[in-house]
Amino acid sequence: MSNPTTPPTDKLDWQNIGFQYRDINGYAKYTWTPENGWDEGSLETNPYLNVHMCSTGLNYGQECFEGLKAFRTKDGRIRVFRPHENGKRMNLTAAFGSMPGIPEEIFLEAIKKTVQANLEYVPPYGSGGSLYLRPLLFGSGPMIGLSPAPEFTFIVFGVPVGNYYKDGVKPVDACIIEDFDRSAPLGTGSFKLGGNYAPVFLPTEKAKKQGFPITLHLDSKTHTYVDEFSTSNFVALSNKDGVTTLVTPNGRTILRSVTRISLVEIARDLGWTVEERDVPFSEIEEGKFDEIAACGTAAVITPVKRISRGEKSYNIGSGEQTEIGAGFEALYKQYKAIQNGDIADTKGWMWPAEGF
Ligand SMILES: *Cc1c(COP(=O)(O)O)cnc(C)c1O
Repeated sequence: MSNPTTPPTDKLDWQNIGFQYRDINGYAKYTWTPENGWDEGSLETNPYLNVHMCSTGLNYGQECFEGLKAFRTKDGRIRVFRPHENGKRMNLTAAFGSMPGIPEEIFLEAIKKTVQANLEYVPPYGSGGSLYLRPLLFGSGPMIGLSPAPEFTFIVFGVPVGNYYKDGVKPVDACIIEDFDRSAPLGTGSFKLGGNYAPVFLPTEKAKKQGFPITLHLDSKTHTYVDEFSTSNFVALSNKDGVTTLVTPNGRTILRSVTRISLVEIARDLGWTVEERDVPFSEIEEGKFDEIAACGTAAVITPVKRISRGEKSYNIGSGEQTEIGAGFEALYKQYKAIQNGDIADTKGWMWPAEGF
């Protein structure tokens, strides 16, 4: 049994760990075969895997992943944010990609094994860091024909990551990607399949060189409606007559972000109006929103101050924003307080409640 009060290791400079892979104590690994289903799993230390060169994961991209985080509270508890939601989403993706589902008990056990083996790598309370957990599922056995592999591997590894906003939350410039569509109307956009991501590297790198840290996709069919940012969902706020409204797309071409569904719940708790609906890009052109942000596990909220489309650009809110707007700041604070255990977790989002 691990000691629940295991402090963070002093081998890492917690203020400057950034977001990069590093070896830690180990990771959970499970193997599935048609004969035996999932095995009992093991804790592994070698980050290099023995995968068949003819595996469907390597040849046909039969692979999917998830991302979630473990946090340390002031009183030393270590808890994971909404793992049941990631488990559910991984199973939806697995089914779409002809991969075996992962029973909830196994998904949670894998998270538990990895976190418990790495308690010292969960960053200090208040540092803004977390232990980022990466579940991976892929065809690891040989299959040259176009059908599922005879063996699958499920892994949960962890990476200690730093505060995304070391220098404070700063609004960023976004641009629309017009020459590439990430998600077809009846395609794979709502699934965290590995194959959805490599094709986005090129347009996002191009955008970065032009000064846009994040990129926005419109619906592929008509380029009229907002889909989502390349690795995060789209959320917008408007204030009118004392009523705050959160507007966010929730269609089948976008990923069901756990951050988004959680922000929607918090907004409702705050008494705000929530509209989950298609968002025509014209509403951005007309300046209908006071605040716009990208949301996802990595940063929770990234405020967007301007969106460029070709030669045109549209400021969000009045004038050039230099800091996060009041609405998203309120949501962000509430969100971080739940994750850090600073306020009561009335929704039961943090697992396990008592900590590892
Ligand atoms: C993972 C991901 C998100 C964010 O989802 P969270 O569950 O909030 O981390 C949003 N969009 C895409 C395309 C993603 O891959």
